Amino acid sequence: MAETVEQAPLEWDTPLFNTARTQYEQALPYADVGDAVAERLRFPERATMVSMPVRMDDDKWHVLPAYRVQHSSVLGPTKGGIRYDPHVSLGECAALAMWMTWKCSLLRLPFGGAKGGVRCNPREMSIAELQRMTRRYTSEMMSVIGPQEDIPAPDMATDEQTMAWMMDTYSMQKGYAVPEVVTGKPISIGGAVFRAEATGAGVVMVIERACERLGWSLDGMRCVVQGFGKVGAVAAAELVERGARVVAVSDVSGGAYAEGGLDLEAVTEWIHLHRHDLIEFPGAEAVTNDELLELPCDVLVLAALEEQVTAENAGDVKAAMVAEGANGPTTLEGDEILADRGILVLPDILTNAGGVTVSYFEWVQDLGRLFWNRDETRFKLREKMTDAFDRVWGLSEERGLTLRSAALVAGIREVAGALTARGIYP
Ligand code: GLU
Repeated sequence: MAETVEQAPLEWDTPLFNTARTQYEQALPYADVGDAVAERLRFPERATMVSMPVRMDDDKWHVLPAYRVQHSSVLGPTKGGIRYDPHVSLGECAALAMWMTWKCSLLRLPFGGAKGGVRCNPREMSIAELQRMTRRYTSEMMSVIGPQEDIPAPDMATDEQTMAWMMDTYSMQKGYAVPEVVTGKPISIGGAVFRAEATGAGVVMVIERACERLGWSLDGMRCVVQGFGKVGAVAAAELVERGARVVAVSDVSGGAYAEGGLDLEAVTEWIHLHRHDLIEFPGAEAVTNDELLELPCDVLVLAALEEQVTAENAGDVKAAMVAEGANGPTTLEGDEILADRGILVLPDILTNAGGVTVSYFEWVQDLGRLFWNRDETRFKLREKMTDAFDRVWGLSEERGLTLRSAALVAGIREVAGALTARGIYP
């Protein structure tokens, strides 16, 4: 009698990776992919996990887990952010790396997906501690990153300063300046103009295109934005520029709600003065992050964290359209409920792709040592986002799919087509 061998759970088997995997499995039947190719893309190609010592300002050493997961190198170097967060894990990085693969291929960028990070509490760390941690992380990952191998960028709690330290550490080891090893750098060392605003601006380009298709006008629309960081703050400002009214925004502390629309400049100033205390913003009603998601509005922008709209609250979302500025903000169950309720979801791999698209522009400019201006960059970003949106919209109409499924199918097809053409080695 055959012996049944119990398999050990795979290291990346976590809820977020399960979401990414399930989305992949659900999209596969529409993507016309051969079995071998489908199997090859199910898991990341490589995962690097280290534990690294970082000296704190009180001279104590913390040994922190750090990761870099590379999902697919079929189309080119892998690409994706580095996050500093207490929840970073191998499974989380694997899920985010897989989404980066589909995001890059959907946008027709010559990259595969990666993601990495350090499990730490960045809010409790000083600038000096963050710098030592970033330099150690870069040294640990020297053998797996590189301009033709894997190109990091900012993500949660990392920014252009983090990228400058990474670029410097890498360059010092090489002996010459290598700006093209990371994107999202300061402009003074080869960063692209408009990169900092690109994700938030791209979110609104997608919302605008969707409104055009639906015959809706952004002028006068009520918008709610969860997360007032690098993505949400820019998206909120871009919405207001187009005549929309942002009635509520939030940060980690909670949200501020004002029916007549919030003065975003005052909100920004308040956040700078009172770090993460938006809940006390004067002249507005305080709301929790949970309440904010249930406010009646035309557009709800999710620009905070993953797993925000779930089976518990999706039934109470009162938006006509949900735009995913964050990666994975809607769980599988939440997504199904929104779809059943006829709420249009603009999916993350399309909607927040502005960041990596301008990262691609930055890498190209660094390699060519020739730089573009803001208008050129914005124009080229709009072209890329609109083209991707139109392909996704067309596929969703043609095959009767949600925009998320259509985006995944379109992304998977590109990678699978390339892998089929290259063949699986040896
Ligand atoms: N972290 C961003 C994302 O999730 C940007 C990645 C990049 O620019 O490489 O898309």
